[in-house]
Amino acid sequence: DSSPDTQPVAASAALMERALAVTPGGVNSPVRAFRAVGGTPRFIASAAGPWLRDVDGNRYVDLVGSWGPMILGHTHPDVLAAVQGAAAHGFSFGTPSANEVALAEEIVARVEPVEQVRLVSSGTEATMSAVRLARGFTGRSAVVKFAGCYHGHVDALLAHAGSGIATFGLPDSAGVPASAAAETIVLPYNDVEALEAAFAEHGERIACLITEASPGNMGVVPPAPGFTDALRRVTREHGALLISDEVMTGFRCSASGWYGLEGPYEGGAPDLFTFGKVMGGGFPAAAFGGRADILAHLAPLGPVYQAGTLSGNPVATAAGLATLRGCTPEVYERLERTARTIADAASAALTEHDVPHTVQWAGSMFSIFFQPGPPKPVRDYDDAREQDLPAFAAFFHAMLAAGVHLPPSAFESWFVSAAHDEEAIEAVLAALPGAARAASDS
Ligand code: PMP
Repeated sequence: DSSPDTQPVAASAALMERALAVTPGGVNSPVRAFRAVGGTPRFIASAAGPWLRDVDGNRYVDLVGSWGPMILGHTHPDVLAAVQGAAAHGFSFGTPSANEVALAEEIVARVEPVEQVRLVSSGTEATMSAVRLARGFTGRSAVVKFAGCYHGHVDALLAHAGSGIATFGLPDSAGVPASAAAETIVLPYNDVEALEAAFAEHGERIACLITEASPGNMGVVPPAPGFTDALRRVTREHGALLISDEVMTGFRCSASGWYGLEGPYEGGAPDLFTFGKVMGGGFPAAAFGGRADILAHLAPLGPVYQAGTLSGNPVATAAGLATLRGCTPEVYERLERTARTIADAASAALTEHDVPHTVQWAGSMFSIFFQPGPPKPVRDYDDAREQDLPAFAAFFHAMLAAGVHLPPSAFESWFVSAAHDEEAIEAVLAALPGAARAASDS
């Protein structure tokens, strides 16, 4: 039996079998299927603080955090109370309600260049709407994105995308018409020359450049010093908007996201931002926003249409507000401390077992690239793809067997929460040497 599962997984396996009959691949989002690492995806029954408990009764320290949202840990008492309180007053009204205003105010107060936001239900909707708005505002069609950046499953933005597209080594997605992709220009990340050349050639038809504020979907690949400034300068020279996708980094890298760490920029702020994950606290809430004069082009004020039955949902916005209000300066300090402790220990264990690797950072987000040769910085998607994937898979399964749930992909950030306490951190540290050995033996 070549199954990498060493724990009891009968209940998860039985659910997976049922799921496979009624859901493609058994999952509602591809990376959850464990295809890249093998074995049985764990079906989670409950979660509290830093812990997940699966349907077989196994307990794991969670380093996925629902891929970002659970910054305060699972079922945080204040967030739970806010959700229960809001739900008791109604689930969805289809009319304006107070929490939407408060959540928008909270975001606008935190991210200085964001004057207004429109709330939506997913990061995909946020980026899709931001791109439409940029096209409507500029009257142009082309969009520039970077290889390895993921902005949700928007037709025009799937070309050379990160996240699951990277995990499965796919070039693109079928089902995206050539006409939708034809307006997308894909560039290598951290390459100012390629950026300038593309704008020199196509500048007049480029509506916007969208970038992850600090990419996390090809693993963590932060912008080189000056790169974001170059994005601002070049887009402005050519009359294109700059969209900073902070769906992953927003309210996680700092109280005001990646912008809070790297901004303000010499040449000015990005024109539009997108947010998701943390601002929904684990519920479907996301947003796009930025300059008020651009946002004024949205319906009902302007000609760019965008809408949503559940947009600004009262329960989701209550969860998001309680989560953001819980993100105190102490929380960010704690996230950084926890992330450093775990990453340093992981790196030491891998070094001890001669596993070549590089750790890269964006605030408390980090990932460990398992490299086939001597360690070197990962600056773009081509670098990120040079990974020893079997070594990662062996490491992943050894961690899982020892009770630590990492993202099941070598192309993702690890996410810590403010609820990761001494016990959880100790459990991670205890698991690392064995996992490093497994990676070394793979
Ligand atoms: N943008 C970025 C930077 C993301 O990381 C993600 C999700 N991982 C998205 C957009 C899409 O968000 P969602 O999955 O909520 O549609």
